[in-house]
Amino acid sequence: MAAKFNPWAMAQEQVDAVAKRIKLDPGIHQVLRNPRRTLTVSIPVRMDDGSIKVFEGYRVQHSLARGPAKGGLRFHPDVTLEEVKALAMWMTWKCAVVGIPYGGGKGGVICNPKKMSQGEIERLSRRFFFEISAIIGEDIDIPAPDVNTTPQIMAWMMDTYSMKSGYPAPHVITDKPLEIGGSLGRNKATAQGCFYTIQAAAKKLRMPLKGKKVVVQGYGNAGFFMAEFLKGAGCKIVAVSDSQGGIYKATGIDVAAAKKHKEKTRTVVGLKGTTKISNAEILEINCDILVPAALENVITKDNARKVKAKIIAEAANGPTTPEADKILNAKGAVVIPDILANAGGVTVSYFEWVQGRMGLWWDEKDITERLKKIMDDSFAATWDTAAKEKCDMRTGAYIVAMKRVADVTKLRGIWP
Ligand code: NAD
Repeated sequence: MAAKFNPWAMAQEQVDAVAKRIKLDPGIHQVLRNPRRTLTVSIPVRMDDGSIKVFEGYRVQHSLARGPAKGGLRFHPDVTLEEVKALAMWMTWKCAVVGIPYGGGKGGVICNPKKMSQGEIERLSRRFFFEISAIIGEDIDIPAPDVNTTPQIMAWMMDTYSMKSGYPAPHVITDKPLEIGGSLGRNKATAQGCFYTIQAAAKKLRMPLKGKKVVVQGYGNAGFFMAEFLKGAGCKIVAVSDSQGGIYKATGIDVAAAKKHKEKTRTVVGLKGTTKISNAEILEINCDILVPAALENVITKDNARKVKAKIIAEAANGPTTPEADKILNAKGAVVIPDILANAGGVTVSYFEWVQGRMGLWWDEKDITERLKKIMDDSFAATWDTAAKEKCDMRTGAYIVAMKRVADVTKLRGIWP
């Protein structure tokens, strides 16, 4: 039987490999490969039938070296402490690679929100946030949404923290609804940032985007906006998919019509004028740009050889396994790694935090310009590092990120 995928082991292996490559001081290496704080909480919730159910939740702060921890909270039956530790570490690298002043954090609760009422979810959210609030704060750790958590849940959590504090404390959390201090542009920020990295990669490859064939796996928040941005740049979106399957149209899919169809029927499958294809087939279609925007571990050693795209932009977290990465790089494909490709989301969350603390809100033009500059600079730093070190872009991004965190750790020193 195949060994169960252990994200924490994989996250530590990635750090070990880069530490070796950059000859990192062994003491600093030990600091970077371990989480700074790990908190486990029990969350008693009164269920609608009057019974009390106790859930387990976590908040992990991997690093506070470059600033407060930043990262989402996920509600899912498969949440494990190992997974949360890995996700927290990846947030450290993501924030460092785009140069925003945060460390990395992540949290989660083992629960199935799809089987809970709104009232149960609200009570769970409030009690969980209360329990972790000992290590939360606008200068300590600033959570955000993740799988199955929403702006409404962020609003409940912000309210819980404010009630405990006795004053409004909106800056302890981001991705809030606009009415209570959310930022313009957050809903499309991940896709927008990813689009800027594709534009930059295409320029390096001297590959004009106009007329290029694109495949997008996953048609949720990140996937839909990716399709929209790439279509806007003149690309032809030949296939998209969701959990029910995929659709193909050689002359290009109408992305707005696909969204409407999904809203009405809960899937893109069945859109008029398109052919149904499977989620496995979609990755192997003849195209120039492939955007995995759904799940982790979808490009593996079993299908990587059949991937035809020249640019693979990881809007999703962890879509490519390490073996597949090697195959794609050997084929000469450019894989824009997740910690860079999807960092537009956390970057605009950072903008929300900055605007809230200033009490001054920017218009969408300001946000777009600032996001583009950050993504372009981060892409250039990664590309140049990969060229200098003669490595792939993922290793390049890790080198940039780990050096930044290591430098700050060394400068600050080990206390006491
Ligand atoms: P979402 O829930 O809005 O959309 C996910 C989409 O994937 C849905 O359309 C769903 O039907 C589809 N899907 C589920 N299982 C699938 C399968 N087996 N095959 C194909 N499609 C499948 O989520 P999202 O916010 O768009 O996030 C997508 C990915 O992007 C995740 O990996 C997430 O971690 C990553 N990401 C998102 C953000 C953000 O700001 N939204 C930021 C960083 C990273």
